[in-house]
Amino acid sequence: MLLDSNLNEVKEGKRISAIGYAVSNKDDKFKPFSFSRHALGDNDILIEILFAGICHSDIHSARSEWHDGIYPMVPGHEIAGRVVAIGKNVTKFKIGDYAGVGCMVNSCGICEACKQSNEQFCENGKTIFTYDCIDCFHDDEPTYGGYSNNIVVSEKFAINVPSDAPLDKVAPLLCAGITTYSPLKFSNVKQGDKVAIAGFGGLGVMAVKYAIQMGAEVYVFARNKNKENIAKKLGVKNLYDNTKNVNERFDLIISTIPTKYDPIDYINLLKNGGEMAIVGLPPVGETIPTDLTRLVFSANKKVYGSLIGGIKETQEMIDFSLKHKIYPETEIISINEINEAYENLTNGKAKFRYVIDMSSLNK
Ligand code: NDP
Ligand code: ZN
Repeated sequence: MLLDSNLNEVKEGKRISAIGYAVSNKDDKFKPFSFSRHALGDNDILIEILFAGICHSDIHSARSEWHDGIYPMVPGHEIAGRVVAIGKNVTKFKIGDYAGVGCMVNSCGICEACKQSNEQFCENGKTIFTYDCIDCFHDDEPTYGGYSNNIVVSEKFAINVPSDAPLDKVAPLLCAGITTYSPLKFSNVKQGDKVAIAGFGGLGVMAVKYAIQMGAEVYVFARNKNKENIAKKLGVKNLYDNTKNVNERFDLIISTIPTKYDPIDYINLLKNGGEMAIVGLPPVGETIPTDLTRLVFSANKKVYGSLIGGIKETQEMIDFSLKHKIYPETEIISINEINEAYENLTNGKAKFRYVIDMSSLNK
């Protein structure tokens, strides 16, 4: 077993060997890949990854849709697993505990943003993302994500997960959960608010569930009616397949749309004083230039971008989700099915979240 050799590596202070799936360029298919991670530091934990979600950001990154990716690339930032080794200063975890890792693995820790646990906005530009990032804290080596059997991470960036939690459902919370929970809190959603969620995929369904739990009246914008029944079962008031002829006006709209669209079509559907949070990240070059005239004529609304959430809020989101049993809609796959999952997520055939069962790596 690779993990036995990992424990020897820990004892000897060596780099940790890992296996996973990677692409070697933006047009590549995923293939098995062996690599190593930095040695376990005094404040680090070694996690045996049991489940990893597939986020649409993984697809944008693997295909270099935002910027030129760092290859070979092992994506994956929805990670849930078990702690198998701890550094000597670690206090948050003991061996055997469940732990989660999301989109970040480090930051400067001393700027105002980091001190407020908004590590994703590190003012010194030292937010280290879980993959496709250069790790300035470890000799500028590239980071590798969760489509793999293990990860070494500073305990500060790992989230405590109770031992009775369903880990396959916890994994997607580490990105899809926090990315939708955070703007709902930021916009202070309350009982009776009208909230619309645009894009009803992995993130969208989490946004719907949280908003309903917070007492909102929830609506969905999708690009067809395929998931109307599921939406209705969850308590969604109405699912629209376009923004035309919509009479409702909303307090908050969260857009999780990953493709080309015009945000002003949605801003026009806000109440006076309403807010729109944009979390979807369409490929660069597919964003429509803002028509300032249309924006000015839909005045007195607030639009903001929202990027995941800090570590403190991520822990709060995990606790909230488990307390209220708010889980993603998942389909478990083997690691050799990633390529097919990517196709389905791009061509509208996927339902919500694919989660890789990492035990399939050894088969
Ligand atoms: P998914 O692919 O799971 O879901 C996207 C959904 O949007 C799908 O249901 C898709 O419909 C729908 N959709 C696509 N185009 C449109 C459109 N024009 N109008 C309405 N609905 C549309 O993706 P995720 O939920 O994983 O991620 C969504 C986006 O959020 C991505 O761009 C991702 O990179 C970004 N993201 C941002 C984060 C942040 O911190 N800001 C963090 C995580 C993700 P269909 O079912 O037909 O395919
Ligand atoms: Zn993500």
